[in-house]
Amino acid sequence: MTFQVDYKEGLFFRQTLFDQAKRVVIKVGSAVLAGQDGLNLEVIGNLARQISFLCSTGREVILVSSGAVAAGRRRLGVTHSSHEKLRVKQALAAMGQGLLMQAYEQAFAAYNQHVAQILLTHADLSQRDRYLNVRNTLSTLFEFGVVPIINENDTVSVQELRVGDNDTLGALITNMIGADMYIMLTDVDGLCTANPVDDITAKPIYTVAQIDETIESLAGNSSSLLGTGGMQSKIRAAKMVAACGGSSFIGPGRKKEILQELFSGNQVGTFFLPGNEKIKERKHWIGYVLRPAGFLDLDAGACNAVMEQGRSLLPSGVIRIEGSFEVGAPVHCRCPGGNIIAAGLVNYSSVDLEKIRGKKSSAIAEILGFYDSDEVIHRDNLVLLDQNSQKKSM
Ligand code: GLU
Repeated sequence: MTFQVDYKEGLFFRQTLFDQAKRVVIKVGSAVLAGQDGLNLEVIGNLARQISFLCSTGREVILVSSGAVAAGRRRLGVTHSSHEKLRVKQALAAMGQGLLMQAYEQAFAAYNQHVAQILLTHADLSQRDRYLNVRNTLSTLFEFGVVPIINENDTVSVQELRVGDNDTLGALITNMIGADMYIMLTDVDGLCTANPVDDITAKPIYTVAQIDETIESLAGNSSSLLGTGGMQSKIRAAKMVAACGGSSFIGPGRKKEILQELFSGNQVGTFFLPGNEKIKERKHWIGYVLRPAGFLDLDAGACNAVMEQGRSLLPSGVIRIEGSFEVGAPVHCRCPGGNIIAAGLVNYSSVDLEKIRGKKSSAIAEILGFYDSDEVIHRDNLVLLDQNSQKKSM
């Protein structure tokens, strides 16, 4: 299988990338942190020790930690039900977040390592000024030598404003601060070539060169107790990080020395090499943080110009507009056949675009009675979403 890297070569890549990693985001899931009657303090103690060690080597580390709902649930003895109301989960998160931070504060104090809490929703990341404020706060915490501990602000986030899962939140943070590496600690050992439960030939995949369809299909083969969604969101997260030039890791969070092992070159878990191209931070924000307010269907010529020639999108190439949006809104662009190939910020509202679609840019002023720009989306505000097409276009 082509996506896998030869064992020896993979070992070399991994070691080089771990040696060079200065900024690291570590995400740890509820399944790793939950103990029988609350939080597993032994696991939290191990994490604190290993992260403090990484900090002592000059690395800047952010911890993205789940576990608030699980901690609140166990403290209050509320059993999980599939019909659980959102407000119950939010109340459990409010209760558990304090317990979670208390546990971290105590565990890190043993190593004289300060920590700080940051709670975020998608709304905090989708507004550019708030996004930049979060980034500035994180940089300042690094200057103080503090480890930021981030979780989704479950208590206030309604469905539409949620990031939804901490795998994605961690990837957004990784790209926001330009971290070199994103480490996802979970309750599985990593990806295998098949489901080890029902296929004895299944082998662990140590190093992945590129996340293609084969790798994505393997996510369903993971034997995670969190269910298949768990591995799928991790692979998606690794793909986002690869697109911005970072590497990712998925591995067993309860292994006592997991971080030490990783940084000293042991072959554990699954490692994802960075993509060949590096999307700039602002383009990452446009393409991966912002959610589309609408869709533009492009003709084949426009698709080619955008994907292969690095051009801006002109009104002549837009066939159809879906959704209602204002100037500056984020939209996704689709090619004939339905593939989403790019995201961008529009220079015209959906109402005006409806009037100028398919027309030459020179006709804009006459049709609309005003003129802002030749382009529907300028190249500077446009990001290709498919990694393969990006490679072709550079
Ligand atoms: N924010 C949730 C919690 O702290 C977890 C979300 C997730 O695991 O993805 O419990």
